Amino acid sequence: RLLTIEGGEGAGKSTVVRVLRDALLAEGAEVVTTREPGGTPLAERIRGLLLEAGDEPVHPHTELLLMFAARAQHVQQRVQPALARGAWVISDRFTDSSYAYQGAARGIETAFIAELERRVVGIEPGLTLLLDLDVTHARERTRGRDLLGGVSPDRIERERDEFFQRVRAGFLARAAQHPERIRVIDARPDPDTVAAAALAALSEYRRV
Ligand code: C5P
Repeated sequence: RLLTIEGGEGAGKSTVVRVLRDALLAEGAEVVTTREPGGTPLAERIRGLLLEAGDEPVHPHTELLLMFAARAQHVQQRVQPALARGAWVISDRFTDSSYAYQGAARGIETAFIAELERRVVGIEPGLTLLLDLDVTHARERTRGRDLLGGVSPDRIERERDEFFQRVRAGFLARAAQHPERIRVIDARPDPDTVAAAALAALSEYRRV
């Protein structure tokens, strides 16, 4: 009953979270929506630290460990208790984001991330929707947003595009490794079309 929504910036994750939540709420289910990094007061403070690091370069290990510090807190304080009482939990990002951002994009070995996942997360989503978007569309949709991930606003656009490509490739590699769990959804069409694809993936998941 843990659903996670993944994808790069501008892919429309928050819209999909809302659509899935509304569908489950309409059935009378209890639904907890949350996000990473964040989801508890302490984890949200860690998110703030990451987003407001200022001029000091954030080392990939620092970023990785803060992400997992936030995730450990989120899983223990928020996700597990909700799952334990039978609620659906829908998280805007989860561990797959670390494989894409801290792993594929920032160069940390997968084995290290997998070890942290095993020790401090210990749970896997039942279904993950990967909203896949190409760099051109993503660039259009994220203009003016504050982004994290080793790309400071003053860096040139090309570098940002390269970073985004690595993130995207990282997500697609995860999807290829976990075809049962991760459904790739084309995030280019209009929000209604993407929402319909997300709802279809949820129904299919619940049927099996
Ligand atoms: O999901 P959202 O776009 O709000 O994420 C906030 C920022 O955190 C994004 O810029 C994303 O690139 C970054 N991030 C990251 N590593 C993660 C999760 C998010 O760099 N594991």
